[in-house]
Amino acid sequence: SAGIALAPQHGRERDEPMRCADIALYAAKDGGRGQHALFDAALDRVARERVVLQAELRRAIDRAEFVVHYQPRVQPGDGRILSAEALVRWQHPQRGLLFPGAFIEVAESAGLIDEIGLCVLDAACAQAAAWRRAGLALQRVSVNVSPRQLVAGNLPEVVAEVLARHQLPCGALELEVTESLLMNDPGNARAQLAVLRQRGVTIALDDFGTGYSSMALLHKLPIDVMKVDRAFVAGLGVDDGAMAITRAIVALARSLRMHLVAEGVETEAQAEMLRSLGCDELQGFLYSRPVAAPEFERLAGLPRGGAGNRLSLVNGRSA
Ligand code: C2E
Ligand code: MG
Ligand code: MG
Repeated sequence: SAGIALAPQHGRERDEPMRCADIALYAAKDGGRGQHALFDAALDRVARERVVLQAELRRAIDRAEFVVHYQPRVQPGDGRILSAEALVRWQHPQRGLLFPGAFIEVAESAGLIDEIGLCVLDAACAQAAAWRRAGLALQRVSVNVSPRQLVAGNLPEVVAEVLARHQLPCGALELEVTESLLMNDPGNARAQLAVLRQRGVTIALDDFGTGYSSMALLHKLPIDVMKVDRAFVAGLGVDDGAMAITRAIVALARSLRMHLVAEGVETEAQAEMLRSLGCDELQGFLYSRPVAAPEFERLAGLPRGGAGNRLSLVNGRSA
């Protein structure tokens, strides 16, 4: 990979063109192997924003600015809430509530996702335990796991520690991983997930169909749940291809004895098609956007104040 800067256009002193070439190199590497990129002002702005964002993320961890929202996963047909997906948000002091798309990637590349991921896991488990105590019967709460969180190789221990702290059984937790994670297998990811699964934690394959799953590997993976990506759901009733692929994914999940969840359900028509195809759970804006814990409790019919303490805020390590 090569980053290119010009003198004097990009600076007269020796350091300045070098810095610019470095930024261009970063962009070149972003585009994959063996690429080159020429420095320009837009790259410079992106690079500066990245540096600022990294610093802000570090501060956000210290100040516990992350919040976890929950999106219901419902039973097809009657819409009863079966489980919840925990999704992180960042309550930025100036920019307001930020969605993961605005910061997860930078957190990953800056080596901060381990800490943020642990905050989310801790908050979600604390919340799940509080809901159980309050009598809110959810099958599971699912938490997204970044590939980086498996690099250290100790995810089973980390998860066991958090579950024990909140006295939550393994069966109440689901971890969502992506296909690329299982294919690249960082830090022996598959073996770590197999250990967790053996202990009773449910493992889900998120965004199924968008990665590059090897069909040959699929049946050997430690997976209980498949989540059909919303790209296919969005195409239902719009193009025949999406319907055919969704039908095939349902058949695949069935024959592998996996539990099937459809993401991104926005219309009644989509819900009806997915129900008739045999999906086990539906998730999407049709039922609810991801919401803060008190709102989730209202959706799930828990009496006000039912969960006792409010745990929607991540306080580093909630007690
Ligand atoms: P995901 O795990 O596939 O989560 C589903 C995303 O789809 C969420 O976006 C959710 O708000 C959105 N969604 C749900 N229903 C609908 C719908 O009907 N229509 C549309 N258009 N979108 C819908 P969100 O919360 O912005 O999260 C984006 C991604 O960020 C997640 O995708 C997940 O990959 C990642 N993420 C979220 N929380 C965490 C976390 O705690 N840790 C890590 N590592 N990644 C996270
Ligand atoms: Mg997910
Ligand atoms: Mg997904």
